Amino acid sequence: MLVALLAHLHSFAEDKVTFNAHVHGVSELTIALEKQQLEIELRSPAMNLLGFEHSAITRTDKAAINQAELLLANHHDVFSFSGGDCVLVNQFIDLSSVIQTQQEKSDQHMDSHNHRDDHHHEQKISESAGHREVIAKYHYRCKKSSTLSAIKIKLFDLFSGIEQIKAMWLTESKQGASTLNVNNKNITFK
Ligand SMILES: [Zn+2]
Repeated sequence: MLVALLAHLHSFAEDKVTFNAHVHGVSELTIALEKQQLEIELRSPAMNLLGFEHSAITRTDKAAINQAELLLANHHDVFSFSGGDCVLVNQFIDLSSVIQTQQEKSDQHMDSHNHRDDHHHEQKISESAGHREVIAKYHYRCKKSSTLSAIKIKLFDLFSGIEQIKAMWLTESKQGASTLNVNNKNITFK
């Protein structure tokens, strides 16, 4: 059901904002409210949240991933609701695109065993380079969903790499799209 709503939302928003473009600095947010169920999905270039877009290799990379996961998991610091009486049911944070696969790990292991030179290692990294996306989903139940009037998106305070958020929202009676930035963090349902 929600999938259908979101598909509809995407087609609606197409001429309003460009979605799924993967522009560094720009993250995307989809919000769907039906009855008491509120679904929020964030899609973002990993660059905005981590400052890099390759599989985490160094301790610093891995620390950045843990930090980003922690920040996203702390949903009270990500969203604040005006009205609605919403309680988090579950959340899903997917940073797998920047976590080393088993294959990459064993390649790296072999490299160190064979005493390959730095040049080869550099090549390996650039070969596996490419854009990476991070996804975070939040599912709330809102006891008084009709009173939910706005959501403040506080991601700008958590991640300096997010310059803009393209947001689309849909309720049973209304829909809208807006571009948020550090000076305009509120999505208002009207
Ligand atoms: Zn990218």
